[in-house]
Amino acid sequence: MLIKNCRYLLTQNKNRDVLENVDILIMDNLIARIAENIHEKENNDKVIIFAENKIVMPGLINTHTHLGMHSLKGICDDKELHEWLDKVTTEEKKLTKEQVLQNTENGIKEAVRFGTTTIYDSYKYALERAELFQRLGVRACISETVHSLQNIPKAEQFVEMLLQDKKHLVTPIIAAHAIFSTNEDVLKAIIDLSEKYNVIRRLHLGETRRERFEVQQKTGKLPVEYLHSLGFLNERALLVHCIWLTKGEIKLLAKTQTKVSHNPISNMKLASGGIMPLIEIMEEGVVIGLGTDSVVSNNNLDLFEELKITPLLHKQYRWDPKVITPQEALDFATIDGAKVLMLDKEIGSIEVGKKADIITIDIAQHMIPLNNVLSNIVYCANGNDVCDVVIDGKIIVKDKQF
Ligand SMILES: [Zn+2]
Repeated sequence: MLIKNCRYLLTQNKNRDVLENVDILIMDNLIARIAENIHEKENNDKVIIFAENKIVMPGLINTHTHLGMHSLKGICDDKELHEWLDKVTTEEKKLTKEQVLQNTENGIKEAVRFGTTTIYDSYKYALERAELFQRLGVRACISETVHSLQNIPKAEQFVEMLLQDKKHLVTPIIAAHAIFSTNEDVLKAIIDLSEKYNVIRRLHLGETRRERFEVQQKTGKLPVEYLHSLGFLNERALLVHCIWLTKGEIKLLAKTQTKVSHNPISNMKLASGGIMPLIEIMEEGVVIGLGTDSVVSNNNLDLFEELKITPLLHKQYRWDPKVITPQEALDFATIDGAKVLMLDKEIGSIEVGKKADIITIDIAQHMIPLNNVLSNIVYCANGNDVCDVVIDGKIIVKDKQF
């Protein structure tokens, strides 16, 4: 495949180079060459995407969602999290396996159409969902939340099966819901599995202030300190939300190389009260990715919205427009998202040797003038501007059609 005459190419490589009028040659599923005027003879399969009026960039990476809930969109607006959980959990119990898989397919199609090429999706029926992602040609990380020790063998089997198949587009993750909804034995078992197979372990943390009081009352420790005492925190640990953290807890995350998923729209919609101390987390050097969370608390899968709202929210919160740049925001949605999912050797930037996960953005009327291409991508573009989506070297969306 040849992506011809990219008007702008946001590489997201180490130097964050923005190239103009270059071609990208893709061989099999890998980026083979980036140069001007690559001859069509080199393009074995003759597939060409013309990009003279496009911005070409790495596909976005959604580090937190639950696609199986897609049909519950709009059923529970304007509720506080614990009330929201009660209502939504009741409705989730009514979903059949077929509905969950249909919801997942609808969610994949929406997210990918809007430019996301890797989705970390956590829900029931992990194996069937993994097969669905594989069939649709979409890269994913998949977990099924472990609620009790009885679920551990099934989770282990899932991890083993996916790790055996090197061509699989899906990477397994081990997940528990949250400290308040699980127990210590489950958390310890998750740590063991994650260490044994070198896969990520994920937990929702600090989404409400109430969780802090409950954990402190029960354990005498702050939530992050408590996780650290169990041995949960290291480079394989992924914590989602992280709104209610102290500076000491942030330092612990940095020291242990724990990763964080920031879901600003979901947090605002559920009125989690505080605002994630993103700038303090960045200053300590913790790796951060962006997530939409499910459409029940968002209510869509257009990660371009998170890309815009993240800098806006934190500028406003800190009374300082300088605290976060468009480049830093774009890093969260691409290369840093890849680091969060431990996939940064394969994806997250457009560089020779990496997997070809690439999107093209139409330079439409509202994208003109292009005085600053980065600024336009972060503050001006939206998911509808995405024209083509290439995942693992294959065209998944062509001219805005999945
Ligand atoms: Zn979640």
